Amino acid sequence: MDLSKYEEAAAYLASMIDGEGGVYFYPRKCFIRVTMTVEEPMFAVVECCDTLGITTNGVKRLKRVTETGRTIFVVEIAQQDALIRASEVLDLRHPAKRTELERIATHKRKRSIERRIGKICTTCGERKRPLRRGVCNRCRLRVLRQEAATQGSDG
Ligand SMILES: [Zn+2]
Repeated sequence: MDLSKYEEAAAYLASMIDGEGGVYFYPRKCFIRVTMTVEEPMFAVVECCDTLGITTNGVKRLKRVTETGRTIFVVEIAQQDALIRASEVLDLRHPAKRTELERIATHKRKRSIERRIGKICTTCGERKRPLRRGVCNRCRLRVLRQEAATQGSDG
């Protein structure tokens, strides 16, 4: 198997995630993780990711060990672009993991668009960014100034 070849890297990585990995969707953190107690195949996982243009943090050791005391190695894909890329190039067979990856990609694409063009401010109704608690900076400042003015006249 030549992991510098795109198709072979995609097939190997997909099979590793299907077999030894997990795809996790949480609103604030999404990631794909492959864990094993042998290190060698984990370097192959990273090599596949490199070939496919999927950023990882490399092979890490977890602080916890297995019940029998063996080291656990982990490779994580967690960056927004990497997750979107993974969803485009990986053909997962595991139904639940496949669904979860699609959910992540949809969520991340939406976030990526919002980061670029902004969201609707709940106060002025304009598309702005950044928003804090649904309110744009200008509206937030106006409220703060009004509050300050009110307090000033009371005192
Ligand atoms: Zn506003």
